[in-house]
Amino acid sequence: MIRFKNGRVLTMAEGGKIRECEVWTDGDKIAFVGTPDDEKLKNTAFEKEYDLNGNLLMPSFKNAHTHSAMTFLRSYADDYPLQEWLFEKVFPMEAKLTGDDIYWLSKLAILEYLTTGVTASFDMYFEPDHYVRANIESGFRTVLCGSVSGDKSNLVRLEGYMKKFNGMHPLISYRLGFHAEYTADFELMEGLGEMARKYRLPVSVHNSETEKEVRECIEKYGKTPTQLFDSLGIYDFGGAGFHCVHMDDRDIEIFRERGVYAVTCPGSNSKLASGIAPICKMAENGVKLAIGTDGPSSNNCLDMFREMFLMTALQKLSLKDAAACPAGMVLKAATVGSAHAMGLEDCDIIAEGKQADLIVIDLHRPNMQPLNSIANNIVYSGSKENVKLTMCAGKVLYENGEFFVGEEAERIYSRANEIIASMK
Ligand SMILES: [Zn+2]
Repeated sequence: MIRFKNGRVLTMAEGGKIRECEVWTDGDKIAFVGTPDDEKLKNTAFEKEYDLNGNLLMPSFKNAHTHSAMTFLRSYADDYPLQEWLFEKVFPMEAKLTGDDIYWLSKLAILEYLTTGVTASFDMYFEPDHYVRANIESGFRTVLCGSVSGDKSNLVRLEGYMKKFNGMHPLISYRLGFHAEYTADFELMEGLGEMARKYRLPVSVHNSETEKEVRECIEKYGKTPTQLFDSLGIYDFGGAGFHCVHMDDRDIEIFRERGVYAVTCPGSNSKLASGIAPICKMAENGVKLAIGTDGPSSNNCLDMFREMFLMTALQKLSLKDAAACPAGMVLKAATVGSAHAMGLEDCDIIAEGKQADLIVIDLHRPNMQPLNSIANNIVYSGSKENVKLTMCAGKVLYENGEFFVGEEAERIYSRANEIIASMK
């Protein structure tokens, strides 16, 4: 049993309410939230006690859209429009990656996630065996998202992965998905719809990221990507749309009707000049929200604090309304919304029986003082430097700037640099 005492707790189960109480974890679960009486304390043996000294314990953030191994292209091909960036810069370099490269590059991303309070990623990439090994060894939770593209022959692989990775390890799960409409044949998407209905499962996919993507989809199929996916049954059991920047009224209605999560990636959308997702409009129309960083080649950092600030700031700016997208809405999307979009129902809030996926935010820093509103401080003035401790499945993987992932950070940095040097 691990004890966190003398702290504040933002459970995310009661809006922005902050309680002064203790949190105990046992194995990978939260065992107790409250104020223990003497009797309870006397009968409990703790292997470790953390004196939080008034700091805040809250659910960890979940990164609901990323391509972790793309760390190798960080600051490699910046300042290009999306299509040119993707087809001329990214795809030729990705073709050179080996499975072992993906293993090391993913470990680099995991270190960065931990520094920003993220304990789970919804990752879309290839070579899943190597990626999965990096996560298990690090003690990090991941949900793999199917990333097939091209023709329908790839569906066999997708189905195989789904069966292989679901249930293989408590930190690993797999969800149906494909890269995007513009990299998929019609038959592949048709097959995905059939698979969604066969297994009654959600499907997650890049959706309406750029104007060009939506325009060309309408030219080709007479429908927006969302309407095309819906007509094929792809969203019959929900899922997620990554980006959702260029959504029309019918698209938003489909998301609400089907319970599809809109995963916003404001950092990537800003850097690639893709536009501003209609977050407030989607929320007002009952669409559920989550946040992702997207990959470190388009973002370029994997920082949940920057995403949270951009999410609200871009809404305020585009709507010319300072009241738009308040901090509470952002925090909910980054914790509960993202967890649910990834199918991690047990990792969403601080409550007994839930997974011990939590962070401690250091309030003893100038940018977190005074404590007028701790929740607003996190979104509007917080930074990853305020993340004091990150715990995933009951294990502390990061504390006071140190990593506990079974590998020296410097070794991971060296390998990442060797990989990129060998490709040039
Ligand atoms: Zn993406």
